[in-house]
Amino acid sequence: MKIILMGGPGAGKGTQASPLVEKFGFPHISTGDMFRAAIKNGTELGLKAKSFMDAGGLVPDEVTIGIVAERLAQPDCTDGFLLDGFPRTLAQGTALSEILDRLGMKLDGVINIEVDEAVLIPRLTGRRVCRKCGASYHMIFNKPEKEGVCGQCAGELYQRSDDNVETAQNRLNVYNQQTQPLIDFYQKQGLIKRINGDQPIDLVFADILKALV
Ligand SMILES: [Zn+2]
Repeated sequence: MKIILMGGPGAGKGTQASPLVEKFGFPHISTGDMFRAAIKNGTELGLKAKSFMDAGGLVPDEVTIGIVAERLAQPDCTDGFLLDGFPRTLAQGTALSEILDRLGMKLDGVINIEVDEAVLIPRLTGRRVCRKCGASYHMIFNKPEKEGVCGQCAGELYQRSDDNVETAQNRLNVYNQQTQPLIDFYQKQGLIKRINGDQPIDLVFADILKALV
């Protein structure tokens, strides 16, 4: 099974990756892990990626694509893989198609976990942090017993400035702008599996399995 896992900020993509990997036994290929491995192994592309990261910049597409190509050529990917966090843009998607062609591989599906913005915004802005001890809460997933008060030290809870609605909306806009052309690209190939992400975690997982059969 060769799969891409997609989903925007707050959609719960990260939560679904590990049960999928457990179920299918394929390697989980996330860009973060790949960068770390390439850097640790001191490969030429790894060193290139490191130089960009050390300078505080984004790793350019050609380096990222090169690292993905090297990773997918490894023998543990022959029977399947889960790509997570790549591709993010149409340009990366086109490059991936070329890599897969060269390796004689074909995608089985692109899972897109979809959640309405009306649901995502509270998810993305729900974090509250204790001023005193730094304990972290969430107004949906991990509510404090008493609103605004830390359950561990009775300190005051506050919302970090990067958790506000404007920032959340901005993250969603950037994600949608980047990925919509990519989603259209896979839609045309009949590969997109739309998954309703506004459900309990186990039901989202069950829907993904159904979509892959
Ligand atoms: Zn506290």
